[in-house]
Amino acid sequence: MINLANFSSIFIANWKLNGNIDFIKHYYQKLTTNNKNCVVVCSPSIYLNALKIDSKNMFRGAQDVSVYREGAYTGELSAEMLEDNNINFCLVGHSERRQYFSENNETVKLKSLNLIETNIIPVICIGETLKEKETNQTKEVLIKQINESVPNISNSKNTIIAYEPIWAIGTGLTPTLEDIDEVHDFIKRIDKRFNTFKVLYGGSVKTSNSSDIVALKNVDGCLIGGASLKVDEFNSIIS
Ligand code: PEP
Repeated sequence: MINLANFSSIFIANWKLNGNIDFIKHYYQKLTTNNKNCVVVCSPSIYLNALKIDSKNMFRGAQDVSVYREGAYTGELSAEMLEDNNINFCLVGHSERRQYFSENNETVKLKSLNLIETNIIPVICIGETLKEKETNQTKEVLIKQINESVPNISNSKNTIIAYEPIWAIGTGLTPTLEDIDEVHDFIKRIDKRFNTFKVLYGGSVKTSNSSDIVALKNVDGCLIGGASLKVDEFNSIIS
């Protein structure tokens, strides 16, 4: 398993359903990383093997994994198959998967367990809807998501949490810096065991706001969707 303590910040690009061979070729011609930060690219699974891992801080991440380990489950990819292909990270419970593909806390927990047992770091995504925020339910929602989806064997070395307010994903809206820091602090204090977990922020991160967000005391990096598709912008975020 990757040693997360080696990096000061973690940046994860979530390409979602975007990219092709040509795109990947051009992307890696321009991608510039430094040894301080951990940079993970989560491409569609068919392209994972085309992602470069030729420097000590560049990694491959999957966007999903099966709850099953093997058997008659057409179309699925297991944690073992990811591990076999040098994939070190995997997103789990992204709000788009919760919304469109019936992912729930129970499957997030199962998937995370399979990943950890295969030495892959699950990036467990949690976050509230706009309605939940407006009705002051954010903390309650996060407690439930964390308690129901983070496996007991999770610790700060084998699991990452990503706080992604659903209303901030792909909308250009972000919480205030104070709110982000406060929620991250809250997440780390939900239980003693989360104190040292890496907690990433995701939701409309771009060049203009990334350095302020990453500088927050309780933020350990970012999960970036739309802006990670533009390699110049991603370069500027991770620098
Ligand atoms: C995401 O999909 O995880 C995400 C944070 O998207 P965006 O950066 O486009 O808001």
